[in-house]
Amino acid sequence: MIAFDLQCSRGHVFEGWFASNESFEDQKLRGLVECPFCSDRAVQRMIPAVSVKKSIRRAPEKGPDYRKLAIEVMEYIRNNFEDVGTKFTSEALKIHYGASEQRNIRGSATEDEEKILSEEGVQFFKLPLARKEEKPPN
Ligand SMILES: [Zn+2]
Repeated sequence: MIAFDLQCSRGHVFEGWFASNESFEDQKLRGLVECPFCSDRAVQRMIPAVSVKKSIRRAPEKGPDYRKLAIEVMEYIRNNFEDVGTKFTSEALKIHYGASEQRNIRGSATEDEEKILSEEGVQFFKLPLARKEEKPPN
């Protein structure tokens, strides 16, 4: 059984119980559904406003969380790149010329050192430092 909210042409609202939506339509067509207040047979099914709203509403779409992505990238680099600190430039050059083992390294470089690396054709990329103690505002 399904309970329908029904309304007659004069605006009376009442509840009717039917086996199914088809059953309601069938009984309405045969004039079996009438308003208990005024016996009007021009009865319409009221569609609850709430469920209409629900079916239209969509969950807000979220864009990618760039902050989270950045943290994941930094974590990856932390775990997969050897930290050579301020020796970054000399190590990068050694690796570049085969004097050191081929591997991923990270570290810091001054502007002058970056210039040298560029001139020597060493590929590197710079990332903003994510501080570990940084916490999202409460
Ligand atoms: Zn009525």
